[in-house]
Amino acid sequence: MQLYSTNNRDLRVSFKEAVFNSLPVDKGLYMPEAIPQLGAYFIKNLQQYSLQDIAFTVAKALVGDDIPEAELRKIVEDAIDFEAPVRPLDSGLAVLELFHGPSLAFKDFGARFMSRVMAFLSADDDRILDVLVATSGDTGGAVALGFLGVPGTRVTILYPKGKVSPVQELQLTTNGQNIRAIEVDGTFDDCQALVKEAFNDPSLKSTLRLTSANSINIARLIPQTFYYFHAYAQLLTQGIKDVVFSVPSGNFGNIGAGLLAYKMGLPVKRFIAATNVNDTVPRFLDTGCYEPQPSIQTLANAMDVGNPSNWVRIMDLFGHDNQMLKQVVTSYAFTDTDTRLAIQAIFDRYHYVACPHTAIAWLAAEAYCQQFPGEYAAIFLSTAHPCKFPEVFPQEIAARIVVPRQVQLLEGRHKEVVELDVDFKAFKSYLLSNP
Ligand SMILES: *Cc1c(COP(=O)(O)O)cnc(C)c1O
Repeated sequence: MQLYSTNNRDLRVSFKEAVFNSLPVDKGLYMPEAIPQLGAYFIKNLQQYSLQDIAFTVAKALVGDDIPEAELRKIVEDAIDFEAPVRPLDSGLAVLELFHGPSLAFKDFGARFMSRVMAFLSADDDRILDVLVATSGDTGGAVALGFLGVPGTRVTILYPKGKVSPVQELQLTTNGQNIRAIEVDGTFDDCQALVKEAFNDPSLKSTLRLTSANSINIARLIPQTFYYFHAYAQLLTQGIKDVVFSVPSGNFGNIGAGLLAYKMGLPVKRFIAATNVNDTVPRFLDTGCYEPQPSIQTLANAMDVGNPSNWVRIMDLFGHDNQMLKQVVTSYAFTDTDTRLAIQAIFDRYHYVACPHTAIAWLAAEAYCQQFPGEYAAIFLSTAHPCKFPEVFPQEIAARIVVPRQVQLLEGRHKEVVELDVDFKAFKSYLLSNP
């Protein structure tokens, strides 16, 4: 697999280069130089294949010869070892649950696949691979649990003190093994600045083999295509062929993967980009002007992104042609008040508990169905389990949340965390003195 930078089609790199240095020097994003087409037979008969079979076929088409087939199958089977069920709620309406992995969020698909790909691609280097991540919550948990126990790797996670939820904090701090958590007395931006400085520090760079795990990594995008194919497969078993997907979007990596699946031949009628008040994309689709904004804090905080980093990938997929893009992508934005009402409405109508991100995807699906009624199934993506956001729900709904086993197990575990001030010297000496 060769990749180019969205800022310069002549800048080509190998898959390995794109995985370990996910940001091209020209600050574009890497894209596959050719989008492979999956055969019509495969698409028509998707319902015959399991999630893992689909994942292998799609990954193989994208990754090509960079990972030998037997190895790729092992990576896929090890990484995608949980379900992604489509649950019908009403006629023509269903939810695709992407929260059955270890961190209870869809980011498990990306993090688990990427960790194993990184371990495979660095097998011939005897130095340990040091992954540094700054997190405001969900990414850190997925990365920690994604790399947990993966040989030859070590993860250091920085999170802002007092600013992640109790479940998220347990996921970051109770792992042990090759996962280390640092609680920074500052904001998420401070954490990110410390990580950035580490990547630019010459003595750290020469001593340690540093890499990042951020959401623009191509090895996180690839596995997010798998569940779109698998969801379509589940709908085929019900005789449904016309599908729209509503995707709760922040950095637009999830919907970007859906659109990549579409370009690979998955016959989706439409993608709906659902956002909170961080509405840069809905405004762009309305006005044609792309005007990023500072991010605004909302209930769906994993989507609080004012300048979505994956958006350029989507523009690139559509050749920067707004008209073509608008034939496939519709977008709606919602407030926190809308979100709270939606959580209640989903509970009242379907006896289903949706996390705030998921509730926004439902609202967008409803808005689309009202604006464009027709014969199709609307699937909204549930990106996280509601137990990760307990403070959002009224008592009556909170009482109905079944806490999964993964979380119950975390509760009794020993918390291990190092506290640091926003002080690069201290962070650097921590990295250098804890081999
Ligand atoms: C990360 C995240 C999102 C946003 O996904 P993007 O790929 O950044 O658009 C939505 N919901 C949850 C729960 C998340 O963790």
